[in-house]
Amino acid sequence: MIDYAIIGAGIGGCSAAALLKAAGEEVVLIEKEPYVGGCASTFTHKKHRYNTGATTICGYRDGGAVKSLFDRAGVIPELIPVDPAMVVIHKNKTIRRFRDVELFLEEIDRAYSHPKHRMFWELVRSVSETFYETKGYYYSNRSLWDKILSLKSHAPLLRKFWPYLHANAQSFIENIYGELSAEYLDFLNAQVLIVTQTTLKECNFLTAALALGYTFDANHYAMGGMGRVCESLISNLPDVRLGHEVHSIHKIKDGFHINTSRGSLQARSLIMGTSHFESSRWFDEEAIKGYYRRYQKLNNHQSAFVLYMTVASKTPFSHHYQLISDNIIPNTLSKALFVSFSDPADTHIASEGHYSVTASIHTDARWWKDISPGEYRRKKHELHTLLEQWICDTLSLPRDSIVESFAATPKTFGRYLNRTQLGGIAMSRTNILPFLPSNDTPIERFYQVGDTSYAAQGWPGVAMGAMNLMRLLNE
Ligand SMILES: Cc1cc2nc3c(=O)[nH]c(=O)nc-3n(C[C@H](O)[C@H](O)[C@H](O)COP(=O)(O)OP(=O)(O)OC[C@H]3O[C@@H](n4cnc5c(N)ncnc54)[C@H](O)[C@@H]3O)c2cc1C
Repeated sequence: MIDYAIIGAGIGGCSAAALLKAAGEEVVLIEKEPYVGGCASTFTHKKHRYNTGATTICGYRDGGAVKSLFDRAGVIPELIPVDPAMVVIHKNKTIRRFRDVELFLEEIDRAYSHPKHRMFWELVRSVSETFYETKGYYYSNRSLWDKILSLKSHAPLLRKFWPYLHANAQSFIENIYGELSAEYLDFLNAQVLIVTQTTLKECNFLTAALALGYTFDANHYAMGGMGRVCESLISNLPDVRLGHEVHSIHKIKDGFHINTSRGSLQARSLIMGTSHFESSRWFDEEAIKGYYRRYQKLNNHQSAFVLYMTVASKTPFSHHYQLISDNIIPNTLSKALFVSFSDPADTHIASEGHYSVTASIHTDARWWKDISPGEYRRKKHELHTLLEQWICDTLSLPRDSIVESFAATPKTFGRYLNRTQLGGIAMSRTNILPFLPSNDTPIERFYQVGDTSYAAQGWPGVAMGAMNLMRLLNE
């Protein structure tokens, strides 16, 4: 019997596996796809490579969650710094989100002139910096007592940020600015949405400040594709079973019996790296099913529509753009499209003179299921065409430079990654800690990592969760 079986090799599963291996534990990592990374993977389609979803890594710097994870795992990923973290294009305005606040203030003043910008953006930066400097807190869900003790460990955070935790973000920002133009509000909301899966009306000011402040943190581009970063994390792991899809898991006396598409195995402890919203199906144990049921109410069905393109061009592009339109794009939840280009020197993901492009927009998973195949094809085609045109028009990309172009809907994510809800748990004012899943559970030797458990989605949030798990395991 193996000590730890980890199901799913997304950021969560790979991080937990790397940390346990570094701690000297015996681990097997099981992944249904023939490659690792999940939403942060890189796949090949007709000989062209693409990042599946995640294209940016934030927080790889000394003291940051992501670098701490890699340092503990003893791995150095191949990353290059990205500054500006993104270029926002909004109503013919271009705003470069530089890491340096002074440089960024020049950009924002030029685009939406206002005397309060300095006060606001310096506050955003200082809130983010202070937040990430605060250490020592953890979160457990094993019992009520563990939960209370772990919540107590958040006291320094609560003390520092109490007023921001209580303030509705939009009202707080309106108080600073006096009044917000609809245009500037769209700019702020577009950026809050990609990090928190909420808008300023739905989140508190601390959450908004962390989301708006992410461009002041270190941002990196993953050479060779995001999947390589996950591959590097588990490069020392002897037992990675790719192409093994878990079909069922049974609790047995001393652990868990796992049936996969290519055999079975037993493990003393089980770490699920799959989404809380989709994992119940593999269990028959009522205690485990009940555990997952408790969190179903957090499923907001938010998902993504993703456009992939290979482009032949010698024009220099920024790594990341956010295009903002006046109206919500039909069949999506957003006015904003996030577009990422590969680095011109990255000839692993795109051959010389070519770019690999991944562009994503929020949508609702329910709008893509239970519709006829004809309706599905029509909706997908319309949105694909619209987004492609938008990118070409805004970035002056000739249509005949597009070598390949195709799209993924929530249904596609369901087929490949077994999840249609993407982006983790929305960081709204009601989704607060005592009510969120942790990395341990009330079920003995049953753990959870990934973006639907503590701490949040994306590289920094999922890395923090994996390190929280190690603390709970006393490793
Ligand atoms: C479009 C998009 C863009 C994003 N952009 C960014 C970004 O730029 N930067 C950033 O930091 N974050 C970004 N994110 C968020 C980030 O990608 C996710 O939060 C993170 O990758 C989630 O990792 P995870 O380990 O929780 O889950 P997942 O990535 O979902 O991994 C779960 C894994 O489990 C596997 N699995 C499922 N079922 C089974 C089974 N039965 N047997 C075996 N294996 C199974 C899946 O194949 C998958 O590999 C983005 C997300 C999306 C969707």
